[in-house]
Amino acid sequence: MRTADRSVHGGKIMSKSDVDVVVVGAGFSGMYLQKRLRDAGFSHRVLEAGGDVGGTWYWNRYPGARCDISTTDYQYTWDPELHEQWSWSEKHAAQPEILRYAQFVAKKHDLYSGIDFDVRVNDALWSDDTKRWSIHTSTGETIVCRHYVMATGCLSVPKEPDIPGADRFRGDVYVTGRWPHEGVDFSGMKVAVIGTGSSGIQSIPLIADQASKLVVYQRTPNYSIPAFNGPPPQYRVDRLVADRAAYEAEARQSASGVPITMPTVSALSVPRETAWELLETAWLKGELLETGIVFTDVGTNRAANDVVAEFMREKIRAEVQDPATAELLSPRKHPYGTKRPCMDTNYFQTFNRPHVRLVDLNTSPIRTITETGIDFGGESHDFDAIVYATGFDAMTGAIVNVDITGKDGVTLKQKWEHGPHNYLGLTTVGFPNLYMITGPGSPSVLSNMMVSIEQHVDWITDTLVDLRDKGFDTIEATPLAEEAWRKHCTDCADITLFQETDSWYMGANVPGKPRVLFPYIGGVGRYRRICDEVRARDYLGFVLEGAGRRQLNDGPIREIQPDVEMVLDMMATLGLPPIESMSPADARAFSDASSAMRPPGPAVGEIIDGTLPGPGGPLEYRLYRPSTTGPHPVVVYFHGGGWVFGSHTSDDPLCRALCTLADVVIVSVNYRHAPEDRFPAAADDGYAALRWVADNAAALGGVPDRIAVAGWSAGGNVAAVAAQLARDNGGPTLRGQLLLTPVTDGSRQHRSHDENADGYILTKALMEWFWNHYADPEDRSDPRASPLLAADLTGLPPAMIVTAQYDPLRDEGDAYARALESAGVPVQHLRARGHIHTSITMVDALPSGVAPRRRMADALRGFFA
Ligand SMILES: Cc1cc2nc3c(=O)[nH]c(=O)nc-3n(C[C@H](O)[C@H](O)[C@H](O)COP(=O)(O)OP(=O)(O)OC[C@H]3O[C@@H](n4cnc5c(N)ncnc54)[C@H](O)[C@@H]3O)c2cc1C
Repeated sequence: MRTADRSVHGGKIMSKSDVDVVVVGAGFSGMYLQKRLRDAGFSHRVLEAGGDVGGTWYWNRYPGARCDISTTDYQYTWDPELHEQWSWSEKHAAQPEILRYAQFVAKKHDLYSGIDFDVRVNDALWSDDTKRWSIHTSTGETIVCRHYVMATGCLSVPKEPDIPGADRFRGDVYVTGRWPHEGVDFSGMKVAVIGTGSSGIQSIPLIADQASKLVVYQRTPNYSIPAFNGPPPQYRVDRLVADRAAYEAEARQSASGVPITMPTVSALSVPRETAWELLETAWLKGELLETGIVFTDVGTNRAANDVVAEFMREKIRAEVQDPATAELLSPRKHPYGTKRPCMDTNYFQTFNRPHVRLVDLNTSPIRTITETGIDFGGESHDFDAIVYATGFDAMTGAIVNVDITGKDGVTLKQKWEHGPHNYLGLTTVGFPNLYMITGPGSPSVLSNMMVSIEQHVDWITDTLVDLRDKGFDTIEATPLAEEAWRKHCTDCADITLFQETDSWYMGANVPGKPRVLFPYIGGVGRYRRICDEVRARDYLGFVLEGAGRRQLNDGPIREIQPDVEMVLDMMATLGLPPIESMSPADARAFSDASSAMRPPGPAVGEIIDGTLPGPGGPLEYRLYRPSTTGPHPVVVYFHGGGWVFGSHTSDDPLCRALCTLADVVIVSVNYRHAPEDRFPAAADDGYAALRWVADNAAALGGVPDRIAVAGWSAGGNVAAVAAQLARDNGGPTLRGQLLLTPVTDGSRQHRSHDENADGYILTKALMEWFWNHYADPEDRSDPRASPLLAADLTGLPPAMIVTAQYDPLRDEGDAYARALESAGVPVQHLRARGHIHTSITMVDALPSGVAPRRRMADALRGFFA
């Protein structure tokens, strides 16, 4: 291959050793970046350890190596002419064809002339004096550059075999990620394959075609879908032909970089036959992402995931003749999708062949590799060749393989000892002007990488152009922004099942790697919007410096919980009329209709509906009893709905959840509603109901002196007021009060009313509408309407107050928590980060609400301990 020989650039004489940008890697990332840098007029060097372009597709030449995203999607979009000039022969093209594609693009765009091949970057050093990087290469050259981009690939460093005796073997040794260019003929050979991840699953059937004996060593069985390879899928081709721009735009805004209809059905909401039918349809498409998105909750709910996992296991049993082997090949421990699912051609069927044997390393571990073979589980087998399909040091391996030293002599390896902390997966604090393509903290390996690569290359190049235009020399993320990004990535990971599994996504395949979810799971489209927003907000979370100027625009880019954001996005697309534009009757009907569509919540031991006497007539209640043996403590619960709508059944899922989690009886009371019954009807009913429940606790299956109150929103207001009235009117004595995003002060404006006035479901305007229906302005200072204004808050029961960050009512709850504390009341204050007024009540719909609900239940248990 030719090496770079450029001395003239954009009319300027350039030194090859002092350039604007150094790019490491000439895979699809480095190639496109080179094109953009050249077009934008940056002097640059591209350094590649391999002998050609293509990266992954240059190194991974093992038999069966193919892309598992369809070629309709796994291709560049930045050069529209390519679509006319190149056509793919298959849906899942094999490695030689993808490599030819990379070469074709490189030739077409004259990329070869700008790349130094067979050059490895060994280390890189930042100078704070010159504001430049010094890059040292395997050829002994030092290149100085302003900006330094690691386009080094997330699956480019094969994992070293860590099996005792591995270096003793005298036969042939192959690593799938470093396959010989001339190919390997296994005809008549005795072969061992170690590893059953994607590379193993792709290569095993073809190695079995040649070998006289094949033993496959498996530590973890994997889910694999048949590729049903053939021509590119016609329905995708048709869409591309009809409107390529629209198709590509949809891919860029999608969850994983491929246009796919997103699911609307929970796996738990349909009978098994329906689930099987839906899964079968997806399965027959032979597309990697389809089976995982048949249902809404496969990634977040273990029971839902089990539906898909069992479908997969049934498929394995149907293919593999020996039931014991089928069982060994069936994943049981990890949820579907938490390790990268594979695509195969005849993988499971291969184990029906007489010369192929599967060894389960959990029951027959390898004792040692010998000069002639492998000793395992009391057996000793000779082999002519061993193939290691043991995966990669993914996401960070190639980055930290280079000794990168940033500010103050800190190396990236040191900084990342406890996790690859970064901002947007693109940059990292302490390493100015260093960029990563598809690095940790970005969608990367959880996406169609072509879409993610193009997005990163565009973001980086556009940023470099901005810096140049504005006269800035350096850009560096701020610690605040980086920490907020870490939290956001963790929030996203926490609501999924990924953390249950030891996978390479979690760094678990490499000893000593920190255990975090390395890629960003929030989705390709959402991620792109975040990156765009950072630039649109003048590089939020970055400090830019140059020519005596400094621009610091600090702040977190995302704090809202990812599933809450999804709900808000969905609501925005529905274009619903604001509730405050409705009559109370219409608002009630709307609220009832919304409630009918939500998941029901967990099963409880018993539900009893009844009535209790109230000051204005009978009040309905619903009692939830746990399935454990009673008697139980009793919580009198008041529903939300702004005193205008809702009922004793309207917070059903939340009441069920609290009943089961805290092991208490919940009595949910339907107090009178405004505008028919205005202030103080709700307060009076709340207190009357509390008294009645306390008086009848034993008959209700409760323990008489173990009573607490709880409520959400306006119900939190009723609960707080009931607790004050109980203190002032001779009982009952309460063990505690649990107030979830309560209304505590209608007398004045709080900062959060304006900060979160709009966009988070409960709006400032809606709060006004509720108050107008409930209480006259002069009544709002009455402590029975605004418990915060009570002259004396001493002697009230211990409280847990939950406030939500993006709730207009947040500061009212904060103020009540502070006031109670000042009055000597024990208070637990849970500030639910990234939540809105309604999100914690959305049981089984928003996984991020699980942790706060557990804390609420713990508080209830604590009241009664
Ligand atoms: C077998 C296999 C199948 C895959 N199939 C798919 C698929 O179907 N869909 C999908 O989206 N993704 C797939 N991927 C992921 C694939 O890696 C990306 O799609 C894409 O090819 C990555 O391109 P890249 O340029 O970012 O990195 P790479 O292609 O990995 O290129 C990085 C380059 O950097 C070079 N390099 C690294 N360190 C140094 C150094 N210190 N000095 C000099 N050079 C260095 C390497 O030699 C390499 O050539 C697959 C990966 C593998 C391994």
